[in-house]
Amino acid sequence: MRKNSGKSKIIRKALALQKFSQEQQGKSIGLVPTMGALHKGHLSLIEMSAKQNDITIVSIFVNPAQFGANEDFAKYPRRLQADAKLCEAAGATIIFAPEPKDMYPAPLQTFVKNIELENMYCGAYRPGHFAGVLSVVAKLFNIALPSKAYFGEKDFQQLHLIRKMTFDLNFPVKVIGAKTIREKSGLAMSSRNEYMSASERSDASSIYAGLLEAKKKHRQGEFSAAKLKAIIKKKIESAGGKIQYIEIANKSDLMPVKAKISEKAVILLACYFGKTRLIDHLEL
Ligand code: AMP
Repeated sequence: MRKNSGKSKIIRKALALQKFSQEQQGKSIGLVPTMGALHKGHLSLIEMSAKQNDITIVSIFVNPAQFGANEDFAKYPRRLQADAKLCEAAGATIIFAPEPKDMYPAPLQTFVKNIELENMYCGAYRPGHFAGVLSVVAKLFNIALPSKAYFGEKDFQQLHLIRKMTFDLNFPVKVIGAKTIREKSGLAMSSRNEYMSASERSDASSIYAGLLEAKKKHRQGEFSAAKLKAIIKKKIESAGGKIQYIEIANKSDLMPVKAKISEKAVILLACYFGKTRLIDHLEL
């Protein structure tokens, strides 16, 4: 049963949200950071928070600091009113929807960076992306003052980096990771899926099919990272996708598996269908 069944309220200013959170003495606060254009993946996080906390704050903020110069910041879908209804139905108490100038009244001179992993996997192709993510999550933790914060495994490297930031910097926040919600076809739900045509979307189901095929081969005794990666590459490319990277990493520290898998591992990948960049992962 979710704890809050009332109406939700939109707060636009960071200071106003911080004041609200400071006043909630004795009540547990769950935070669900998002960039909006909400789908069932986001809603699963909001519902989880609403079950576990007295108050659920959903932030909706297309964070300019995590987009590169040639990325989709301008065209990223924005639909606050529709999102607000979905948040309310899922049990949110507060929707925090700040303007960029409120989150960044002056250019940041202080960033949170993971010096080991920021330039690996997605970070290798999106310079500065993870510093933008970690810095905005640190700000959101300090503004919303949650005791728990909810993130999807969908963004596997991001979740790992947020857990590490929270541990390294002693944020008094419990980071909770949630399973990836997928379409019936297996395609991981993403706000960016709507950039794709119907046929690209259907071709993109090859991503999860390839991941599952590799996992099956691994279960049958294949431990070579190169061979497992080749299975996925073939599946995606034969459906018309373009691989950006496929890597297998140890789950514990996200360091790459060089040759043979020897501990719990995860496949991480990014690829393009048409102009749309998609990411996915699967734990082995
Ligand atoms: P975004 O709005 O894309 O920044 O995502 C906000 C949060 O929702 C992040 O923690 C994502 O990992 C999570 N998320 C996005 N897509 C999914 C999905 N398909 N299943 C579960 N969580 C997701």
